[in-house]
Amino acid sequence: MNNKLISKKDLILLAALLFAALLVFSAFGKIRSKGNYLIVTRDGEVVVRELLTEEKEIRIESEDGGYNIIRIIRTDEGNFAVMCSESNCPEKICVNKGQVVLTDDPIVCLPHKMTAKLVKKQKQKQKCCQ
Ligand SMILES: [Zn+2]
Repeated sequence: MNNKLISKKDLILLAALLFAALLVFSAFGKIRSKGNYLIVTRDGEVVVRELLTEEKEIRIESEDGGYNIIRIIRTDEGNFAVMCSESNCPEKICVNKGQVVLTDDPIVCLPHKMTAKLVKKQKQKQKCCQ
């Protein structure tokens, strides 16, 4: 009996499809694992968790009428930086901080109890007890 339900050609096609699917998957995986986040906290609470995919501006309002404009900026190397481009706080320490990248300290606006920082997507192990 000659069982030709699945021919050699079909098998090759199937293998090619699987391979292509695998490639797509691994490509997606790479893009995903590269994704970093902007985290903005206000009064200790996370109010913005934004995946860095494009340049944008986010307005953070504080309860007493204060605000910070947080900007996500694409750097020349294709990474992202973040800065506080505008604020109505008195000393503008947050604005003067300029751009920060993943490895930098967070932007802090004490009057508005606001912090903005970039974090890696993977959960970072907490450094404890130094
Ligand atoms: Zn400020």
